[in-house]
Amino acid sequence: MNPSDPWVALARHAPLAILTDLDGTLIPFAPRPEEARPGPAVLEVLASLASLPGTSVAIVSGRRRDQLDRMFTELPAVSLVAEHGAWRRGDGAWQAAQTPRATPPEGIAQVLEKLTAGVKRAFVERKSWSVCLNYREVSKREKAALVVAAQAAAGEWVRAHPEYEVLEAAEALEVRASAMKKSNALAWLRERAGVGARVLVLGDDVTDEDMFRAAGPGDESVIVGAAGGRSTAARWRLAGPNEAGAFLNWLVGARADRPTPTPAALPLLVSYRPRGKRLDVPLRLLVVSNRLPELRSPVSPEEVRKRSVGGLVSALEPVLSKRGGMWLGWSGQTSPADSPPVGGTAENGSPGLAWVELPPDAYELYYNGFCNRSLWPLFHTLPGRARFADAEWEAYRRVNAMYGAAAAELVSDASPVWAHDYHLYLLGAELRRLGHKGPIGHFLHVPFPSVDVFSMIPWAEQLLDGMLEFDLLGFHTRRFAENFLQAVGVLSPAAVGDDVVEHRGRRVRVGVFPIGIVTGKFQEAADTETAAEISALLQATAPAKLVLGVDRLDYTKGIPERLEAFGHFLAQHPEWKGRVSLVQVSVPSRADIPEYAEQRQRIENLVGRINGEHGEAHWVPVRYLYRSYPHTHLAQLYRAADVAMVTPLRDGMNLVAKEFVAAQDPARPGVLLLSRFAGAAEEMKDALLTNPWHTDGMARDLLRALEMPEAERLARHAKLAAAVARTTAASWAEDFLAALEACRSR
Ligand code: UDP
Repeated sequence: MNPSDPWVALARHAPLAILTDLDGTLIPFAPRPEEARPGPAVLEVLASLASLPGTSVAIVSGRRRDQLDRMFTELPAVSLVAEHGAWRRGDGAWQAAQTPRATPPEGIAQVLEKLTAGVKRAFVERKSWSVCLNYREVSKREKAALVVAAQAAAGEWVRAHPEYEVLEAAEALEVRASAMKKSNALAWLRERAGVGARVLVLGDDVTDEDMFRAAGPGDESVIVGAAGGRSTAARWRLAGPNEAGAFLNWLVGARADRPTPTPAALPLLVSYRPRGKRLDVPLRLLVVSNRLPELRSPVSPEEVRKRSVGGLVSALEPVLSKRGGMWLGWSGQTSPADSPPVGGTAENGSPGLAWVELPPDAYELYYNGFCNRSLWPLFHTLPGRARFADAEWEAYRRVNAMYGAAAAELVSDASPVWAHDYHLYLLGAELRRLGHKGPIGHFLHVPFPSVDVFSMIPWAEQLLDGMLEFDLLGFHTRRFAENFLQAVGVLSPAAVGDDVVEHRGRRVRVGVFPIGIVTGKFQEAADTETAAEISALLQATAPAKLVLGVDRLDYTKGIPERLEAFGHFLAQHPEWKGRVSLVQVSVPSRADIPEYAEQRQRIENLVGRINGEHGEAHWVPVRYLYRSYPHTHLAQLYRAADVAMVTPLRDGMNLVAKEFVAAQDPARPGVLLLSRFAGAAEEMKDALLTNPWHTDGMARDLLRALEMPEAERLARHAKLAAAVARTTAASWAEDFLAALEACRSR
């Protein structure tokens, strides 16, 4: 089995919550509900699933409690949800999901009964908070007239009883209290399954769409059957109940790690229609970033090692929660090339998430292409690595339009939208085109280059023109803001002021918002397990002084240049051999781009060369770790380090520099050796600033850091700590939003 297959990944995930509808999903429809019963095969697969560790299973049905009780007496481990979520049976007794505001709809029951009088094989079923007219077996001749009359009567009744809604189910019409949605069961079972649970939903009916819509980005939803030709919010499709049974049997085997033949019936991707939905309550803030944040906790040590890292979540989560906002981004999934984008929303996380899926070619051209091979190196002033292709620029425009359409679906016309980073510079223009009137802001997380470099982009003018459709443009440093203003002055007819651009009768604000960290996080003591893991690493380097490097494995981070300088330092100062070790943590990043694979190779060769040239039996000069650590581990490493070499060739901010300072023991602080080309250098002038392009100079600066007298270390650290405390992650987000909200809507 291919472990990268999404179904294998899901099958191996714990905890897993499986919610499945019954009629039409696990068993075929019968003329009358009491005639349809799950056979032994269905009961057996459900029992097997529910007996596996870390697996919670629930049948979520529209049927009454007594009917479900009779069918599943033998399966106490399977949870039951009756009447579309109105009743739940977890452990033992049934409980009402909530006290309904509605009363049983006797009025419409009687109206429908009158309509069915004399119509053969039509019948009306009363449930606690709904009434269902079943016309599956009614003759064709009578059916059409009955359905039209029933729809009209139900519609009229619901207009007078707004707490009810009409559902057109498979060969049935149901009038149901609106609060009784199957999606309620999804949140319930997720919670019962435990922290980090992923959810699998199977259903066929219009009443199952609520569950599909409530599925989050880590969840999977499968529609069984043809969905009666309607568009569905489910992500995958199985042909019918037999295939659903085969799939669940496969899941049992895969989950128990038995060699299991892959059934022909693994779910296939549904062909999507856009399904972003307007929210009932107008959104007061929408954040848009290329990628959705990973809100789920990692579930295995392997995942912890490989997890890509990003600090935006801690900065944005509080402001989104406070304002009732939502986050829109790419789900990380690609959908088939010929299907339009998908939007989905989930209310199970905080903040609410909405996502789009990218066609595979768009992912390649837009993300790997224009974003990461053109803009990324160019914005980091590494033009030698940048290359440009018409098709990639076209894909960038197309994908920005896709995000724009999804954003416009979600947010009310007047609410603020906050876009992030170089991936989404055309989002403002798209939203304007779609009639958005509220303020739209953009924050750039990477450097903005000088005009000479920026104008190497073949579409520099168009890009700039798009940028000027935002109301607020934010940068980390004064220097980046000035670079931008200069580019506008040179490449566009707009009028440029100190912190404002006037263009086509509008004002675009330009602001400097240096991002900060959650300082407390790096001052907490580590738990014993963490302490033991990092102590083992530190013991391996003791009693030498510890020089630390922590970066994503990216060519902008200057890791080979740092290693060269370290090797040069050892060659120049052999008296330090055996007395200093460099620990380099390199977090895997963009490994599918060839330049990154080459960079990794180059770093590993250099580590081997330095260790081979200088190492001794009792001393390894460079310890290289190609992995990621959680913040608790990093804090301990930072605190133990005598020197941090934060020496990117160019960087938007560099949070590692700030985290290192925050984690120091103020009585025995280490020294920060910081590249003058990191955005952080603008605020952290008391670091030892160095030039990563100059090997001799960086080796000299390292010596100075290692030999720095205590008084100087204390004085520098005190000033740096004050600078780091000045702006935090939360104050950065609040400052930007205050400026954005102050922009007048047009
Ligand atoms: N980081 C992490 N685990 C690691 C290495 C790094 O969590 O093993 C985090 C680090 O704490 C910092 C982020 O990754 O918050 C890197 O941010 P930075 O601004 O330095 O660089 P970026 O990767 O955003 O370019």
